[in-house]
Amino acid sequence: MNYKQWFSAHHEGRLKGRYITLEHIKPLLKSYENVMEISTVGCSELGKEIPLIRIGKGKHVVLGWSQMHGNESTTTKAVFDFIKFVAQKDFFQSEIKLFLDHYSFFILPILNPDGAHLYTRENANGIDLNRDAQDLSQRESIALRSVFNSIQPDLCLNLHDQRSIYGLDTGAASAVSFLAPSANKERSLTKSRELAMSHIVRINRVLQDILPGQVGRYDDCFNANCVGDTFQMAGVPTILFEAGHYKEDYNRENTRLLLFNAFLGLFGFKKLLGKSENFNHYFNIPQNRVNHNDIILRRVLLKGYDALVDIAIQYTESLVHAEVGFIAVIDKIGDCDSTFGHREVDVKGCSLLINSQENIELGQYVNTIVIKNNESDVILLNK
Ligand SMILES: [Zn+2]
Repeated sequence: MNYKQWFSAHHEGRLKGRYITLEHIKPLLKSYENVMEISTVGCSELGKEIPLIRIGKGKHVVLGWSQMHGNESTTTKAVFDFIKFVAQKDFFQSEIKLFLDHYSFFILPILNPDGAHLYTRENANGIDLNRDAQDLSQRESIALRSVFNSIQPDLCLNLHDQRSIYGLDTGAASAVSFLAPSANKERSLTKSRELAMSHIVRINRVLQDILPGQVGRYDDCFNANCVGDTFQMAGVPTILFEAGHYKEDYNRENTRLLLFNAFLGLFGFKKLLGKSENFNHYFNIPQNRVNHNDIILRRVLLKGYDALVDIAIQYTESLVHAEVGFIAVIDKIGDCDSTFGHREVDVKGCSLLINSQENIELGQYVNTIVIKNNESDVILLNK
């Protein structure tokens, strides 16, 4: 069995889709309570518990937190895939023992349980916790900081999802991206930044084997209100993980495989333990660009336009009956030559009926798109 086969057969099937809340992970925490240290480190603004899991007894202390942004759940799924991997007793036992002896991995799987419940980026007070690192105005921010202060990590992992608008100059989607945040506005290469970069280089090496050319690097503008920048200022190497979008994987079940492998790479599975990487290779990872839309319709004959136009469509997410729905919205009409669609449709100069109409406008919600004069040719039908 290899890691990929293990993941296919045994990943954490109790978590799936985009809507992951404290209620979803409580049974998992219960199932691990006799094999791992699980505690509560505080409460959210609405009084929900913030759980902390500890894996391993080693002297290298790593602190990770997921769902600081409540609607960014892919890394939470991958965290529980990784936990299930290290808790099982059937495969890779010598590698897992090495990990458990070498590391103490502390993880807050849902830092923002209120936002997770509401499926919002912000917490219940509408505060973006990743802009609250200086003010510490929210209970969730205080809980994270108190864990940081008490365990004094050697490395921090700030686990997020990015929107489907990100891609690379090659036209590939950015399926996962990383950042070693800056510690000052000059973006200097501090010692902790270099260390974070070298970890990212190692992770990237693993991911390139799985999905070549689809890893991006995030913009490193300094903002002391962001948690990663603040921890990096304190001299603790911090890595921002951004689980991204790839093809039609709107539930991000393939992306979770990439994140699982990112953890394997980071923690030295795959026979890399202790191998240090040259941090300079970090700058060879291509920078993320805002150059993708969910759907692009090419060469559309549209009323009121002299030439054929492109129409870019972007999904907006909304929580309906405890499931995340994707609503298509007209994002751009005109030339989309420098934009790539996760789905591209060349309509070859035909007219379209969008919601049964020929007239469309920016920001409009789209339920159906069919080719005019051939209405059985359906391009989009929202579920
Ligand atoms: Zn985020």
